[in-house]
Amino acid sequence: MKPTIGLEIHVELDTKTKMFCDSLNNSLEKEPNTNICPICTAQPGSMPVINEKAIDFVIKAGLALGCKINKKTWFERKSYFYPDLPKGYQISQYEAPLCGGGELKNIRINRIHLEEDTGRLIHNKESFVDFNRAGIPLMELVTEPDICSSIEAKNFAQELQLIFRYLKISNADMEKGQMRVEANISLDMGTKVEIKNLNSFKAVERAIEYEIKRQKEILDSNKKVIHETRGWDDKKQETFSQRIKETSEDYRYFPEPDLPILNISDKKIQELRFELPELPENRRKRFEKEYKIKDVEFFINNPVFGDFFENTISELKAWLEAGKINTDIDPLIRLCANYISTEFPKLKGEITPENFAELIYLTFIGDISSSGAQQVLKEMFKTKKDPSQIIKQKNLKQMSDKGDLDKIIDKIIENNKEAVDNFKKGKQGSLQFLIGQVMKETKGAANPKIAGEMIEKRL
Ligand code: MN
Repeated sequence: MKPTIGLEIHVELDTKTKMFCDSLNNSLEKEPNTNICPICTAQPGSMPVINEKAIDFVIKAGLALGCKINKKTWFERKSYFYPDLPKGYQISQYEAPLCGGGELKNIRINRIHLEEDTGRLIHNKESFVDFNRAGIPLMELVTEPDICSSIEAKNFAQELQLIFRYLKISNADMEKGQMRVEANISLDMGTKVEIKNLNSFKAVERAIEYEIKRQKEILDSNKKVIHETRGWDDKKQETFSQRIKETSEDYRYFPEPDLPILNISDKKIQELRFELPELPENRRKRFEKEYKIKDVEFFINNPVFGDFFENTISELKAWLEAGKINTDIDPLIRLCANYISTEFPKLKGEITPENFAELIYLTFIGDISSSGAQQVLKEMFKTKKDPSQIIKQKNLKQMSDKGDLDKIIDKIIENNKEAVDNFKKGKQGSLQFLIGQVMKETKGAANPKIAGEMIEKRL
C-alpha cells in the first residue's frame, strides 16, 4: 500500500511585537499574561493593526521557496470556539494567501499564509489561560501530498527549519513550540487522517510510521479508516483519536472587516529578494565544491561555524602569503574544518578567525606540535590571547631547530646504549623509544618527526 503524506507547518515569526498590536512577542515568557493588551485579549472596541515586519518575513520565506507572491492579499476571520481564542475567531488567510506554489526537495508547496497564534491553556485541577502567546505572528505552510515516507517528511521539515533560520525569520525550535508540524496521511489515496502535537523531528518520523502501520492493519482486515484528527502520544509512542475533522465550511471564513486589503508592490518584492541570504542548499553545494571537506553538513547546520570557517580560510591564505609559503592549501583547509567541527563545540569562550588561522599556520610551519596546538587552542578560548603570545608564555614552541636538538640527541644516545644497539640490529621499536626519550628530555618541545630523522641519520 502506498502512503500519501502532506504536511502543515506552523512557525512563530521572530518579530519584536505581535501580529496586530504592539505587545511584546516572546513565546518563552514564563510569567503568564504579561505581554498582553486590549487587542490581543479581544477587548470590545479594540482594533487590530498589521505588523508589516511579519508580512515581510512571510514574503521572504515564499521567495526562498520559489513561491509566487500574491500582490493582492487580505486577512479573513476563521470562526471557531475554543477558550484559548479570546475573539471567537482567528485572524488568518484563506482565499488569498501571501504566497502560493513553490517547491523544496521535490515536494510542492501549496501555500504559505499568515495568521495569529492562540493563547495557551494550562490545566491543573483548575484550568487557566495564558495569553502571552495569543496574537504572535504565525506563518502556516501547507505542502501538496507529495511525500511518500516518514524519512522524507522529516528531511523536508528539517530543511525548512534550516531555511527559516538562515532567513532569520524564526528560530523554528520544535521543542519550544516555535515550529509545529501536522501530517495528513492516507494509504492508496484513501481516507485522510491528520496527526497533531508533533513536537520534535523524531515525533514526526515515528508518528507517521505508526499511522501508516495502523491504517494498513485496518485496511487489511477490511475495515474503514475514519476521517479524523489524531494526537501523538510521545510516551506511549502511538497516535490516538482526538476529534472528527471539521470541514472548511464549519469555519465560516469571511474577510476581516477591521483590516485593509494589502497591495504588495513589485518594488517591495524586489527589495526583499535582494535581502535573501545564501540559502542552505546553495551553501551546501558551494562548500562541497570549494573546500572538499567531509563534514560539510556540520557547517550547513551550524552557519555560525560555517562563517567562522570561511573567515579562517581567507585569513590563513593571508598568513601563507605573508610567510611566502607556496603550498597546497587543501590539507590545511581540512585541518581547520576538523578542529572547528570536533573541538569548537566543546569549548566555551571566544576566538577570532584571525587568531585561529595563525594557530593553524604555526602548526603547519612546525612552530608547535599538534598536541601543543590543542593546548594553545583551549587557552585561546579562555583568555582571547593570540597563539604566539600563549606559545611564548607557556614555552610551547616546538624545537625544530637542529642545532638545539643536536646536544640533546647526543645525550640520549650516550645514555641508552641498549636501545641504540637494538636499533642497529633492526628493531624499529627502539627508534620510537629513543624519540620518546628526546620528547621527555625536552618536555614535549621537540618536533618528533625531525628528532626521529636526526637519530636515524646519526645511527
Ligand atoms: Mn493555522
